[in-house]
Amino acid sequence: MFDFMDIDYDEAYEPVGAGPYIPDAGECMRCGVCVSSCPTFRLFQIDEETPRRRIRTIGRILVEKQPVSAEERKHLDNCLQCRACESVCPSRMAYGQLFDQAQAELKVKPGLLAKLAFKLIENKHWLRRLMPLLVVYLKSGLQKPLRFSGLLKKLRLAEAEALLAKPALRPLVVSYPARAAKRGQVALFTGCIAEHFDRETLQAAIQLLNAIGYDVLVPPQQGCCGAIHQHNGQSAAALIDNNIAVFNALNVDAVIHTATGCGAMLSEYQADDDAGQRFRQRLCDINEFLLQHWPDELQLTASGLKVAVHEPCSQRNVLKNQQAVYALLEKIPGLSIAALADNHICCGAGGSYMLTHPDNAGQLRDLKRRAIGDSEADLVVSANFGCAVYLNAGGGRVEHPLQLLARLLPVNM
Ligand code: SF4
Ligand code: SF4
Repeated sequence: MFDFMDIDYDEAYEPVGAGPYIPDAGECMRCGVCVSSCPTFRLFQIDEETPRRRIRTIGRILVEKQPVSAEERKHLDNCLQCRACESVCPSRMAYGQLFDQAQAELKVKPGLLAKLAFKLIENKHWLRRLMPLLVVYLKSGLQKPLRFSGLLKKLRLAEAEALLAKPALRPLVVSYPARAAKRGQVALFTGCIAEHFDRETLQAAIQLLNAIGYDVLVPPQQGCCGAIHQHNGQSAAALIDNNIAVFNALNVDAVIHTATGCGAMLSEYQADDDAGQRFRQRLCDINEFLLQHWPDELQLTASGLKVAVHEPCSQRNVLKNQQAVYALLEKIPGLSIAALADNHICCGAGGSYMLTHPDNAGQLRDLKRRAIGDSEADLVVSANFGCAVYLNAGGGRVEHPLQLLARLLPVNM
């Protein structure tokens, strides 16, 4: 009966209060409060592209054990897993968890390219060996003719190729000592590809942590957080077990993550034993950690820049700690800080979504780029690597807030 309630679909609803999310698709009231928050509804303006309809499909898969049609499946797969719907749902639907369960239940069989991608992010040694070849390709001058030939499109590699950037080849070292009076020791989560493709952020994190008095350990045995696997119906159990074992073996005050996409996954590791609890207890977002431990005497250089803050979905809807970024940026004297308009709408990156649904993702990116243009900001900051890469593809200036903070450290730090 709630399907026909008089809902203003243009109105963005505020996140509802605290309390556990409910992993039961049958609890959906079909009230429609989630509809205006959904980026795919924004694009298509049809009920099939709403969280409400997807919850119904998920219920058919998980509760009724019914087959779903190709059409229903298409609309379900169009979901970006941004979890904006979860944040506003008055029934506290655990949409993210339900979506992953439905994907697992559907027993998704990946294609050849997807299989290869899963294998590569599972195996950092293979990935490392590939990097020199990538550098050769980027230097070879083959990029333009290959793009022009249409071959990349035929091989379904065009979207991934467009995101390529020069990788860092050398691994980070295992330990970085504090550069101020030592206060403790932390471990840095680097995951699968960030060491190669987001080295600037990781180096900024290390520099800042060292500057506030923390030794930083980077355990080489760590691996991918498992998000890409789990959200695409594949088992992430081996990756989860490995990370828990690697970080629990370290004598550190905290395990720090820098990308909110990975952080969201790490914070929801479903291991309820002692090891899982110990892992989650020590887990901390870099922005929150720096804010909590920032020494009064550490002064940053002033900056007259105008900065717009992009709030990644994983930060807004899962970690819910976006205010830490604003508070941290306020450590920079003179900086002008504003939220990017429409921060509740996903930028389109959505983990692997930018590769699997390039048309939808591209439309959402266009909206975000319009908001960036309208902001007239000198710089946009985003605490998630995936969003920054996607927004920067083909030109853009989005970086992790840590990079800005690290540039403004005193010269001896
Ligand atoms: S998912 Fe939540 S907000 Fe959306 S229709 Fe169901 S109960 Fe309402
Ligand atoms: S997770 Fe995002 S894209 Fe998916 S249904 Fe919810 S709001 Fe829509």
